[in-house]
Amino acid sequence: MSTRAEQYAAEVVSREQLSPHLVRIVVSAPDFRGTGVPDEWVGLIVPGQFQSRYYTVRAHAGGLLTLDIVVHETGLVTEWAGRESIVGETITITAPKGSYTEPEGAGWVLLVGDLTALPAMARIAETSTLPVRVWAEVPDDTRDVARERYLPGVEVTWLPAPEEGGSALAAAVETIDWPGGDGYFWMAGESSQMRAIRKHLMRERRLPASAYDVMGYWRGGAVRQPRAVDPGPVWRAGKAAGKSDEQIWADYDQAVQEAQQ
Ligand SMILES: Cc1cc2nc3c(=O)[nH]c(=O)nc-3n(C[C@H](O)[C@H](O)[C@H](O)COP(=O)(O)OP(=O)(O)OC[C@H]3O[C@@H](n4cnc5c(N)ncnc54)[C@H](O)[C@@H]3O)c2cc1C
Repeated sequence: MSTRAEQYAAEVVSREQLSPHLVRIVVSAPDFRGTGVPDEWVGLIVPGQFQSRYYTVRAHAGGLLTLDIVVHETGLVTEWAGRESIVGETITITAPKGSYTEPEGAGWVLLVGDLTALPAMARIAETSTLPVRVWAEVPDDTRDVARERYLPGVEVTWLPAPEEGGSALAAAVETIDWPGGDGYFWMAGESSQMRAIRKHLMRERRLPASAYDVMGYWRGGAVRQPRAVDPGPVWRAGKAAGKSDEQIWADYDQAVQEAQQ
């Protein structure tokens, strides 16, 4: 493995089809230094491409890095990972970053995510010392593997996966019966679902920003629509008014909603 400007060349040493939707690759990465943050991710650039896609570090030991790739209908990494012949190929990975931060005094953890969040939820559940509950949107044909290889012994509510390109996680979160006291809420999946949940956590549950982490991992909808509202001016006006990032995103969501009415 060679290093250049926080990028590493790493060789694919194995590929395993865990389910029709999930491919596990292990890459040789002897110089890789993890962050220790359980939802850490790297950028992955497959041979012949220059654009990266993000993948969670499912495991890292003995110079080997494990990445679990959701294969959906079409996509740059999806198409590459779908081929058995990728073993022996060299990919580029970028330096890892992590986000998960349990606040001091948290007494529990709630995790919500779709298939792309499964590797991070598994690592968090394996490493947290707090009681963990999970809501996982996983297709039927991947549920056994999810139970056995990702979340064994964890209290999981399994949610049916809607059609390709869809997710219904936001509605599921609104039905959660929250534990008492302070805790930490972590969620990742389709971006529009995540936006709805940020709003719910801020407005309905009135959580401080340190009590949750909600990340858009991918965008549904094959055709990218032009933005109804340009976030730039909303961001600058919010910053000038001394607003927090959460308030600015709430203003942006509000402006998008008004533009769509
Ligand atoms: C921090 C972070 C960590 C992530 N960790 C993982 C991980 O561990 N495993 C993982 O599989 N993904 C993970 N993702 C999500 C992954 O980066 C995206 O799904 C990515 O777009 C997939 O790239 P692609 O080349 O296959 O498809 P793209 O070329 O990016 O997209 C092609 C088409 O597929 C659609 N699409 C993209 N992703 C999905 C999906 N999941 N389901 C249905 N349709 C989709 C897009 O809307 C687009 O129309 C993570 C994302 C982030 C930000």
